[in-house]
Amino acid sequence: ITHLPSTQYVNTKSTLDSEDKDHLLHRSFIDPPSLVERAEGVNLFLSDGRKIIDACAGAAVALIGHGNKEVHQAIVNQLQKVSYVHTQSYTTQPAEDLANLILQGSPHGLEKAFFVGSGSEAVESALKLARQYYFEKNEPERLHIISRRQGYHGNTMATMTISGNLGRKVPFEGFSYPHTSQVSPAFAYRYMQEDETEMEYTPRLLREIEDEFLCVGPHKVMAFIAEPVAGSGIGSATPPAGYLAGLRALCDKYGVLLIFDEIMCGVGRTGTFFAFEQEGNAVPDIMTIAKGLGGGYAPISGVLVHKRVVDVLRHGSKAFNHGHTYQAHPTSCAAALAVQKIILRDGLIARCAAMGKILESMLRTELRDCWSVGDIRGRGLFWTVEFVKDKKTKETFDPRIHFGARVQQAAFDEGVALYPCSGTVDGKRGDHVMLAPPFIITEEELSTVCKVLREAIESQQQLFS
Ligand code: PMP
Repeated sequence: ITHLPSTQYVNTKSTLDSEDKDHLLHRSFIDPPSLVERAEGVNLFLSDGRKIIDACAGAAVALIGHGNKEVHQAIVNQLQKVSYVHTQSYTTQPAEDLANLILQGSPHGLEKAFFVGSGSEAVESALKLARQYYFEKNEPERLHIISRRQGYHGNTMATMTISGNLGRKVPFEGFSYPHTSQVSPAFAYRYMQEDETEMEYTPRLLREIEDEFLCVGPHKVMAFIAEPVAGSGIGSATPPAGYLAGLRALCDKYGVLLIFDEIMCGVGRTGTFFAFEQEGNAVPDIMTIAKGLGGGYAPISGVLVHKRVVDVLRHGSKAFNHGHTYQAHPTSCAAALAVQKIILRDGLIARCAAMGKILESMLRTELRDCWSVGDIRGRGLFWTVEFVKDKKTKETFDPRIHFGARVQQAAFDEGVALYPCSGTVDGKRGDHVMLAPPFIITEEELSTVCKVLREAIESQQQLFS
């Protein structure tokens, strides 16, 4: 029931009866969003008086919850000191402190941080950095970026090109970065064959990537980019054992830069600061983080750069030839610094790991008898429920039904906000909802979320059985 046939964000209404006539351009003309008046802890308070549990922290963003007074104070303090300077000539203390806090002691060899405003900007910056790296190394032919189908890296031109979500590309064919190709995602539920073990699935995926390197010509490949734990495209899919280490080895073999996009899965979301840390420490050359960095208190994202990349620029042109007006914005950096200090002080990443185990067990118990639940997958406080028409064959629902969006709406009507992520499955839209609550969520709140989710699923199952 959409104007764009397979767009990511579906409208549950089909007519213009309630057309949105306000001046702010919302995502949909027929389904205006809810007005939020106040947000506190894990709750959103809507203008119609309803209270909603934000079980997806916006888009996996509000990691310490909403309305934290310490962060508010840090922002006010910074505004009273310096609200803005341009980074070409100036730096500010919160920007320096934030980089030092995240990269203290160069964990895993990651030496420098570059802060911008959004996830897409961070990925664009990472790609330009990769390009400059090869320019400096006198390997100008390296322009090709290999990504994975169903991956998500952003909505700007280059990041959209390398993203695999077909729905988001519908009106933008031809509006793209030319040197890219895509390989299979690491997505065991859908693509590991029935008679295949994980030990066989991993090398099969890696062989496909090596074949792609050879097909493009390894000397032309600039970067391989992947989300270590996939986010909005296929919903918190963890890679099979040995996959990330295998990627690292392949990139080393062909001199290709490995970029990890941890914009959604990083900053503790999966139970460790970096998601890759749980996967054999396959360290990327460049990586991106965003959502949990500022926890939603201000727009901020980061590009973290390994020493071996930094060194090429350090000894080459001695500058990164890239920048943005609001780069390392002092207010954003002050907000992120306050958020990160709270995470450290309150042990919130360990809490995320512990609450994640509780959430997993609640989901598996609560949704046990739901015939439409094909898969429950994730890690930390990053979980996805995938819906299917037939559990055995894993057949998807008719995309026109929008089963996942309906479940999301039914849960919202009962006071729980979930994240819709309808990635593509074999060219068709899949149906998932994602849970990515703030790390401060309590067991009782998680229990309410899971109960509401079950009831929402049951209400839709009745309609489509
Ligand atoms: N990469 C990943 C992995 C993401 O999840 C997102 C946002 N969902 C982006 C990039 C783009 O971030 P933004 O929407 O802030 O541009």
